[in-house]
Amino acid sequence: MDDFPEVRQFEERRGAIVASGADFPYFRVHQGNIRDTTEIGGRSYLSFGSYNYLGLSGHPAVNEAAHRAVERYGTSVSASRMLSGERDLTVRLERALADFLGVGDCLALVSGHATNVTAIGHLVGAQDLVLHDALAHDSILQGCVLSGAARRPFAHNDMERLAYLLRSNRSRFRRVLIAVEGAYSMDGDLVDLPAVIELKQRYGALLMVDEAHSIGTVGDSGRGVGEFFGVDRSGVDLWMGTLSKAFASCGGYLGGSPRMVSWLRHTLPGFVYSVGLTPANAAAALAATELIVAEPRRVRTLRRNAELFLGLASAAGLATGSSAHTPIVPCLLGDSARTLAVADRLYDRGVIVDPIFHPAVEEGLARLRFFVTSEHGEDDIRRAVSVLAEEVGSTEG
Ligand code: PMP
Repeated sequence: MDDFPEVRQFEERRGAIVASGADFPYFRVHQGNIRDTTEIGGRSYLSFGSYNYLGLSGHPAVNEAAHRAVERYGTSVSASRMLSGERDLTVRLERALADFLGVGDCLALVSGHATNVTAIGHLVGAQDLVLHDALAHDSILQGCVLSGAARRPFAHNDMERLAYLLRSNRSRFRRVLIAVEGAYSMDGDLVDLPAVIELKQRYGALLMVDEAHSIGTVGDSGRGVGEFFGVDRSGVDLWMGTLSKAFASCGGYLGGSPRMVSWLRHTLPGFVYSVGLTPANAAAALAATELIVAEPRRVRTLRRNAELFLGLASAAGLATGSSAHTPIVPCLLGDSARTLAVADRLYDRGVIVDPIFHPAVEEGLARLRFFVTSEHGEDDIRRAVSVLAEEVGSTEG
């Protein structure tokens, strides 16, 4: 495998970054938990690179719950949940998530990415079609590949195009699954959920919403785009989300009707043939869910911080694209070399933000992507935006 052409191509791409003189921005080793700040090589940085949106990774109550779980259950459940891997922590977590979402039941899996792959792979097959937003996450695309279903992307949030694809394809397939995200992680905008639900109902399609970045962050109490738009929960067949962001853990979940979840619990390959969540991860996600419900001010602070960041960035003339109502604010720079150079300058000045290039985003739409958290102070946000505006300005022309 060392001699694969793909290996050489990858090495050439990496070499080009190193040759540009910029500090290699990937796989930096952080020396502790990241909330508003992080430490690298003994230096403290203001961080906008982690999706610890509510600061619950590292929260004393969440840490304590994980410690207690390890003391009692060890570090692995050492079996599929269906066999000897079931523990009360996962059962309670699923109940708490279902209540939080306002759905009948919920299933928790060990990886968010694998949750999408196995769910889509299981729900649709060769006689079916998946219509997905063009900006859909890799895990949704991988699920389509696994399923063997036909797949058509529609331009980002373009409801007319989705309607057209449904109209012209619905009758040709057994099932049509629409896959969208609650909040898009590269652009920081929301799905037009009421419009998608109306279309899925009109054409008798299925709808799956990936709430990786909207659960815990969007809606008055963090219950995601369902809450934000006030939709009837049954308008979405499958509410998917990850435990790795606002929930301060690791894993994915699938929520919906009790009958569907019961079927998935007994048949979904990525669940049945995989180990159960670790006790520490289940306990952390459960504690985080309880904290989000008990302390709604975190979600409000997050929203205030995100609005402040976005408002200051737009006022400074930065290109924030379609970002709105989410804690994700991109600064679009277009050119990869320039994006890398600005990220590097920010790093030198003590601010961490991830540069995002093709293939994560379209060629020519390279950007810096800021994750705002409830832990950032107003001064931090003001400083970050002002340093960003200076550095973007200095590379203009
Ligand atoms: N869906 C979306 C929209 C994501 O952004 C991500 C990862 N950030 C995932 C799924 C995968 O989740 P995880 O990282 O928890 O495996």
